[in-house]
Amino acid sequence: MKTPPVIAIDGPSASGKGTLARRLARHFGFAYLDTGLLYRAVGLAVLRQGGDPGDADQAAAAAVALTPANAGALDDPALRGDQAAQAASRVAAVPAVRAALKAFQQSFAAAPPAGAGGAVLDGRDIGTVICPGADAKLFVTASLAVRTQRRLDELRGRGVAVEPAAVLADMTERDARDSQRSVAPLVAAADAVVLDTSMLDAEQAFAAALDQLSRRFGLAAGPA
Ligand code: C5P
Repeated sequence: MKTPPVIAIDGPSASGKGTLARRLARHFGFAYLDTGLLYRAVGLAVLRQGGDPGDADQAAAAAVALTPANAGALDDPALRGDQAAQAASRVAAVPAVRAALKAFQQSFAAAPPAGAGGAVLDGRDIGTVICPGADAKLFVTASLAVRTQRRLDELRGRGVAVEPAAVLADMTERDARDSQRSVAPLVAAADAVVLDTSMLDAEQAFAAALDQLSRRFGLAAGPA
């Protein structure tokens, strides 16, 4: 039996990949999984237990406890905060955490929920490790300055008072940790199309992605 189509979207934080992934999922009628939320949920669970997200055993135990059945916890607004983001990037460097979350992500791709006709997953290693056979792969990126500004706008839009220098430092630290870790580092898959959104707004990024998906991967939505 043919498996449902999968669109893999990877890239650094605030590159615009989440917005793009959500829009593509809606366009194609596919289910969407923000895989960063899984790592955030693990990081936050460790923090809430008073633990250390850098401790491999504690992080692995929290990852094993996260199953699709209790994934309702992924709606927690606290997952969107910077504390969860930093904790996520620390637990994400633990190989046992990545191994525990792999099956969750792969089963979502193989059997998208609610009868969706396919899946869009976004993260750091979807095209390289989780779904290397994905039907289409995009690597979404933007300059550090642009990503910092986007994160600032997002935080201020949520009423969070932040200093630009603090956001830049946080982003730089997370980029370094995500790109330099030994297991599943952030890197574009060899067969991914790189989409630099530095000069694009969300609408333009969506149009560019649709164009690439159709031309490079032969993926186009049927008539509505
Ligand atoms: O995408 P988001 O910013 O929510 O991800 C939070 C952190 O989770 C990232 O900085 C990264 O360390 C980790 N992550 C990962 N692999 C993924 C998704 C997220 O390592 N597929």
